[in-house]
Amino acid sequence: MNHCAPSLCPACGARNDCALADPASADRACWCYSVSIDPQVLRALPEALRNKACLCPRCAQVLDQLPTQNR
Ligand SMILES: [Zn+2]
Repeated sequence: MNHCAPSLCPACGARNDCALADPASADRACWCYSVSIDPQVLRALPEALRNKACLCPRCAQVLDQLPTQNR
């Protein structure tokens, strides 16, 4: 059974690299602030998974919007 793990993608369980989930980087803006996630991607998520934790960049389908040093 999984308990709440905000640093993991709720869709695939991979690390989402959310800056806010890690105290060491919580003062930095998360990568998700600089990308625009297609609303359709969010709508495709089950309601229970939304707003629980960040998606990983792959599931959010924003890999091509991220600077290369973040990959
Ligand atoms: Zn994912």
